[in-house]
Amino acid sequence: MKIVQVASEMFPYMKTGGLADAVGALANALADNGHEISVFLPGYRAALEHKDALGAERRLRIKVELADQFVSGEVRVFSPRRNLKIYLICREEFFDRRGAYGNGERDFEDNADRFIYFCKGVVEMLRLGDIGADVVHCHDWQAALLPVVLREAERRHRVTLALKTIFTIHNIAFQGVFPAKVFARTNLPDELYHIDGLEYYSQINLMKGGILFADRVTTVSPQYAKEIQTPEFGCGLDGVVQTRAEDIVGLLNGVDNSVWNPAVDALLPARYSSVNLSGKQICRLELLKRAGFAADFKGPIFGMVCRLTEQKGVDFVLANSDFFLAHDVRLVVLGSGDKRMETELRELAANSPQKIHLSAKLDEPMSHLIEAGSDFFVMPSVFEPCGLNQMYSQVYGTIPIVSRVGGLVDTVSDTDANPTTGTGLMCEPNAASLRDALQRALLLFADKPRFAAVQQRAMAKDFSWKIAAGAYERMYQDAL
Ligand code: ADP
Repeated sequence: MKIVQVASEMFPYMKTGGLADAVGALANALADNGHEISVFLPGYRAALEHKDALGAERRLRIKVELADQFVSGEVRVFSPRRNLKIYLICREEFFDRRGAYGNGERDFEDNADRFIYFCKGVVEMLRLGDIGADVVHCHDWQAALLPVVLREAERRHRVTLALKTIFTIHNIAFQGVFPAKVFARTNLPDELYHIDGLEYYSQINLMKGGILFADRVTTVSPQYAKEIQTPEFGCGLDGVVQTRAEDIVGLLNGVDNSVWNPAVDALLPARYSSVNLSGKQICRLELLKRAGFAADFKGPIFGMVCRLTEQKGVDFVLANSDFFLAHDVRLVVLGSGDKRMETELRELAANSPQKIHLSAKLDEPMSHLIEAGSDFFVMPSVFEPCGLNQMYSQVYGTIPIVSRVGGLVDTVSDTDANPTTGTGLMCEPNAASLRDALQRALLLFADKPRFAAVQQRAMAKDFSWKIAAGAYERMYQDAL
């Protein structure tokens, strides 16, 4: 199949979270299976500066209509491997910046223009670049306008640009909601600014457009597919999602085992596998050192890697700070984001530097070291579309402590409830229930044979993208 992927992030060219990992791994897995894959990304500075893009060819100059203006740009293309081409939609004014969506403090003010431009730039390339897509697969709100602007361009120019469009919701909490006047920038017919179109409480909601106008809608776990049809998790779009209830499927992300695999992980001080865990011990020592803890510590290390946001349950961890102080345990947190959470974690770490460590930055090697060197990985999310770190944890023999929401339900089972099959510990998304799970972690850690059995089961699980990509392939074929 000729498959086009459209997203605002793809590892290793731009990453702020799991979306990048998912798009990168899916594209690679599909390319491996012999499909012709084109990925469209904004021409961010980081992407243009990546070594893969250095010889990128200037393929096409484009003019994108934004309201009554034509805004020029260009498309650059490079191919990092067989069957995979990366197209960058470039316009310095929009994308030659450090961040993807904001400057760390707040979102960029021109995000609506940036991603409307991006979607329309993709359509121009599909129209003029002779790509002949079977499937155009759009990810999250930044690419959500594409299904509708693509069909509109087909109508206007009397061409077929794609047989089917797919829209995947990676996180329904981010919808791309902008003031009504932004609608004019899309140049879509007025009748689409309507309750059955992009209008949403007198504003424009780009994700709503993706949900309504794509031929198929998917999300990233079966549990999240159910949850987003409820008011509790639907973030106001539950009613819209329900209109697609017949088509919506949840396909789990996988783990890119060329990147997240303790047997080959070049970011670790030592490698290991389930048959020989001695390398994990070396990773533990390196983690203790990096965190500034005593090297002879033998008790449980709890790790955490996440964006510091309400979503990730950071407040439940903070509410349990006395647990980490009262017991002979260590806590290592890698994450940045919300300033209040960062400050509270920083204070906690400053008051007990021998037990609690915070690294408040983006640090890819450290994220691998935490997965490898910890005994438990703490992820008590309030909601979690799929979640990657709980899968990485299991692959690295680190027992995940997760809440019973979204993809966490589909990828972890509680070992106290399922003594012969469980691979983690589960709680409800609140501080008291997390406390209970942390206590159970201490009991599990103290029971060495049981801990080892849970660890072996976790490491034996297959989260590879082969499975995930196969599910996407079947979905594409089914749609066609
Ligand atoms: P989300 O997409 O909601 O952020 P996921 O669990 O799906 O959550 O994916 C998060 C990804 O981002 C993981 O690969 C994780 O290791 C990575 N990550 C999060 N925070 C950091 C950080 N501070 N440094 C390095 N990697 C991080």
